[in-house]
Amino acid sequence: MTGLRDLPSVDQMLQTSQSQEWIACFGRPLTVEAIRSTLNDARAQFAERASLPEREALLQSIERYLQSWTEPTLQPVINATGVILQTNLGRAPLSPASLQAIQNISQGYSTLEYDLQRGKRGSRLVHAEALLTRLTGAQAAMVVNNNAAAVLLILTALARRRGVVIARTQLVEIGGGFRVPDVMKQSGARLLEIGTTNRVHLSDYEAALEESPALFLRAHRSNFRLVGFTSEPGLAEIAEVAHQAGIPLVDDLGSGTLLDTSRYGLGHEPMVQESLAAGADLVCFSGDKLLGGPQAGIIVGGAELVAKLKKHPLARALRADKLCLGALTATLLHYLKDEAEREIPIWRMISAPAEQIFSRAAAWAVALGQGEVTSGESTVGGGSLPDETLPTSLLSLSIRKPDQLLARLRQQNPPVIARLQDDRVVLDPRSVLPEQEEALLHGMKRALEATG
Ligand SMILES: *Cc1c(COP(=O)(O)O)cnc(C)c1O
Repeated sequence: MTGLRDLPSVDQMLQTSQSQEWIACFGRPLTVEAIRSTLNDARAQFAERASLPEREALLQSIERYLQSWTEPTLQPVINATGVILQTNLGRAPLSPASLQAIQNISQGYSTLEYDLQRGKRGSRLVHAEALLTRLTGAQAAMVVNNNAAAVLLILTALARRRGVVIARTQLVEIGGGFRVPDVMKQSGARLLEIGTTNRVHLSDYEAALEESPALFLRAHRSNFRLVGFTSEPGLAEIAEVAHQAGIPLVDDLGSGTLLDTSRYGLGHEPMVQESLAAGADLVCFSGDKLLGGPQAGIIVGGAELVAKLKKHPLARALRADKLCLGALTATLLHYLKDEAEREIPIWRMISAPAEQIFSRAAAWAVALGQGEVTSGESTVGGGSLPDETLPTSLLSLSIRKPDQLLARLRQQNPPVIARLQDDRVVLDPRSVLPEQEEALLHGMKRALEATG
């Protein structure tokens, strides 16, 4: 092509058989826009360099525009990092029953807010409540959008314009910019900090009563650990002081768990049932951390307090949607039926036998004809169990350009997320779902070939 008049028009481009395929695949308006953008680029190139792209290059550019405009940014990946609850990778994968529930509930209509017996409007809050109270022993329960929302709702409904006592040992930032003090400010509650950074005593709680606080808040330190010269009173002692003063104790557990993590060679992560038994009046935790369900904020506790939360106007803005409630209910049922370890993916990962992980890593090495199996560590993540690890087996690849391999792995479909350890690319079978293994090996082979 020599002059601008050699550039085809949009209409001419639309006549090509290639365009007919694009229109079938992407629709006419988007195809027209991709052609326009490409022709504009070509004119800009001509103005700059007095040359025009070849016809083939024009077609490729149109295709690239169409691909990039329609490619979902939210897509599945294979998590080979060995971090079981990776917030950046979407935290907990769901159980088959939870996925089925999402489909059942969302492909048509549902009883989201409909009482079948009375043929009248019902409440979406009933769906998970019976299961949650049965599982935790709480009088009442409520589900909101996530745990940050749970904390915001509790503080807004119970402590707006009033004081909330919290120990300085717990004024943490948990990642993603969620800082306990900021949420408290947002709720309109006044922060009454007690104790020091490393130590807080029961007498600090007692002294704080002079400020007539609305409640005591205990917050899990999440992915931060307090070591050395430290002390904090137990929850039961704090509850006693609160109750003598007639105010509630709220426990933000962060992850929380219904199963005892110490059974799996991990430290003991605070359990929801324990907090309630120790006297916490409200306990809140995430649906997608160690519970292993969908994103949700779960609040369990005393009937009167939960009723107040349900009635607060903010509850409407923070409510959980039907997909969440469907999946959450199915996840909770696994606990009730004592099949959590088998059915909930994160618990299967946590409880995976060492031999099983070793043989998976070994099979990967054989399939790839490359790499060796080394011992390493998986972590739970999700702001739970800081510093705690599970012994694991890794497929370890010694490569000249490890960063390049990691990048190539991320370009696969589905992308594979691995990690770098001592200049080696390592993949941990623990966090790879068995049904993703074939895709993982396929992606690995292609990435290795491309890296050379
Ligand atoms: C994770 C966490 C939250 C926030 O929970 P989301 O479900 O992510 O909103 C709040 N508090 C603590 C202590 C946490 O660890």
